[in-house]
Amino acid sequence: MTGRPEALFPLFEAITKLAGVGPKTAEALARLGITRPRDLLFTVPGAAVDRRLKPSIMGLPPASVATVEVAIGEHLPPRVAGRPYRVFVEDAQTSFQLVFFHAREDWLRRSLPEGERRIVSGKVEIFDGTAQMVHPDHILNRAEAEALPPIEPVYPLGQGVTQRVMVKATSEVLERVPDLGEWIEPSIFAREGWPDLREALHVVHRPRDLGTLSPDAPPRRRLAYDELLSHQLTLQLARAKARRAKGRVTEGDGRLSAQVEAALPYALTGAQTRALAEIRGDLALPQRMNRLLQGDVGSGKTVVALLAMLTAVEAGGQAALMAPTEILVQQHRESLAPFVELLGLRMEVFTGRDTAAQKAEKRAALAAGDIALAVGTHALFQEGVEFADLRLAIVDEQHRFGVRQRMGLSSKGVAADLLVMTATPIPRSLTLAQYGDMDLSVLDEKPPGRKPIETVTIPSGRYEQVVDRLAGAIRAGKQAYWVCPLVAESEVLTLTAAEERFKALRARLGDQAVGLVHGQMPGAEKDAAMARFVAGETSLLVATTVIEVGVNVPNASIMVIEGAEHFGLSQLHQLRGRVGRGTEASTCLLLYDGPVGESARRRLEIMRETEDGFRIAEEDLALRGAGDVIGTAQSGLPRFRIADLERQADLMAMARDDARLALERDPELTSERGHALRALLWLMGRDEAIRLIGVG
Ligand code: ADP
Ligand code: MG
Repeated sequence: MTGRPEALFPLFEAITKLAGVGPKTAEALARLGITRPRDLLFTVPGAAVDRRLKPSIMGLPPASVATVEVAIGEHLPPRVAGRPYRVFVEDAQTSFQLVFFHAREDWLRRSLPEGERRIVSGKVEIFDGTAQMVHPDHILNRAEAEALPPIEPVYPLGQGVTQRVMVKATSEVLERVPDLGEWIEPSIFAREGWPDLREALHVVHRPRDLGTLSPDAPPRRRLAYDELLSHQLTLQLARAKARRAKGRVTEGDGRLSAQVEAALPYALTGAQTRALAEIRGDLALPQRMNRLLQGDVGSGKTVVALLAMLTAVEAGGQAALMAPTEILVQQHRESLAPFVELLGLRMEVFTGRDTAAQKAEKRAALAAGDIALAVGTHALFQEGVEFADLRLAIVDEQHRFGVRQRMGLSSKGVAADLLVMTATPIPRSLTLAQYGDMDLSVLDEKPPGRKPIETVTIPSGRYEQVVDRLAGAIRAGKQAYWVCPLVAESEVLTLTAAEERFKALRARLGDQAVGLVHGQMPGAEKDAAMARFVAGETSLLVATTVIEVGVNVPNASIMVIEGAEHFGLSQLHQLRGRVGRGTEASTCLLLYDGPVGESARRRLEIMRETEDGFRIAEEDLALRGAGDVIGTAQSGLPRFRIADLERQADLMAMARDDARLALERDPELTSERGHALRALLWLMGRDEAIRLIGVG
């Protein structure tokens, strides 16, 4: 079965086939991401208006929508142009006014004939002490009113799309939904008391009461679950395919890693030991490893990576470590260098900054197997770079990359075991969404002896005091970061701000004491500035957010973040994580320009309250919603149309388990339920997943 089931054809034809959808409307719908009838089904009302008939507007909460039958009284046309036209009406208990601006009198006299009764529906407001309904949404006679849906769905709209168009189009599509069989595991279906797909779609699009809109309402949960199940099924199919991919058995003899462990000035934490055992276990299996190592900033991922790479080298192979920025690559090189030297191995850096001759030499050495460890940016996996025997590829700080890019790595011929490291704690529901195809190791324990970071918020008006305090700390031998705000979407302005701050701080603290790094700097300059800071030659590093990920300077104990109100929570957390890495007690100063908005205030408050990355991640999700937490566009995190990862967090785990189990029992999806699951994948447009079924 390779093609889309015929039963689904009516949901996938051109959207213009729907009555009332012409080319113009189709264009407008396309801007909302709606290109096929199917998309309409999963564009659900975000709100609804209660149009149920009430006896009177009396006693309704202010500014609520009322639908009442009224006796029409006197018309009062405006005496002065530009003033409103008023019609006095009376419901069962009280009188009020219908108010119209720029209305045509003849039309009003026809729609609202004095002495007759009509049903009017609209928002009631009190103005100057009188109740009024400005421009009623509906003016109907009895018969018409009976046709009015008691609960009117309100669709998310774009320009050129009206509620009326949406209601009409969805009505037609709802009629087209075929019976596709039930794909939800029967026990879940029964336990949750969910309706079947058709029923769920009907209820969600044509709510019978306002409660239907709640994310807890069974029909909505069901649809969310369908969406998540198809996503998890896709991830699991990808995972199954990756597992079928033959890997190499990589077993180290411990001769290199034992030397390193002996040379470390500390003992591994329990979490590090556990993660390492999991990684080594995978390396030793004949299947390909596909593992995520998740650990908060400072949890000590680097040494885990090193020891894992040494296992690959002990087995006679090579290992590669890829990081997103050159600064991080240099940092990794520096932290690995002493050990590599100790062991007498060759490590090289690949950043695309080499001369042609250097490049050629390194590539040759890599292909000959003379280089044991390769560290680099994405340049590492460019064409022409060949390894003699790559056993382990580690991708660091990759939460900016998504499932697709990860799969891209293996399509680039990286047939090695894959370990992805992320420093950003992600709420569980998002971890599953983004990394459900991977096995997970978590460093949930920080190295001992870390001192808490004191975090304070300071209005920018106290800049001078902050700088005075900083000057004192620097005289006492401390090192500090000063992060400049990102100016909304302008790299040039961001840069200017950083350069100006750099100049000002230099003037105050001395030319020698202050360094600068920013994203626009040539790589060599950036490295040099970083190196001076690492070596303690500069005491203060002014930076844009390029230092956000991974940079490790244990002696730095002060972090100043200017314009902190502009940063997201996880970004603030990442930045703060640059300090508190040494033995020194650390401070984080969050400078803000007041007054700040509610959500910014909350972010700063959370930063003061906790250092727990997982708690911060959960709060971030609550404040911003799922898409933003990871940055949908870059992350590859799917956009769910119905599922709300924050308010329906439990569903993701359920869907993951359901998908796993279903594929375990029926890997080729050939059973009756298997066919229903295939239909789900087609319905959800997951054509790519279908190609993964049973091919290997
Ligand atoms: P991250 O997980 O953020 O990459 P790093 O690997 O950079 O963290 O480690 C942060 C700091 O903690 C480094 O200075 C490292 O030497 C130190 N470190 C790592 N593991 C331990 C440990 N088990 N005990 C003490 N310090 C450790
Ligand atoms: Mg790191």
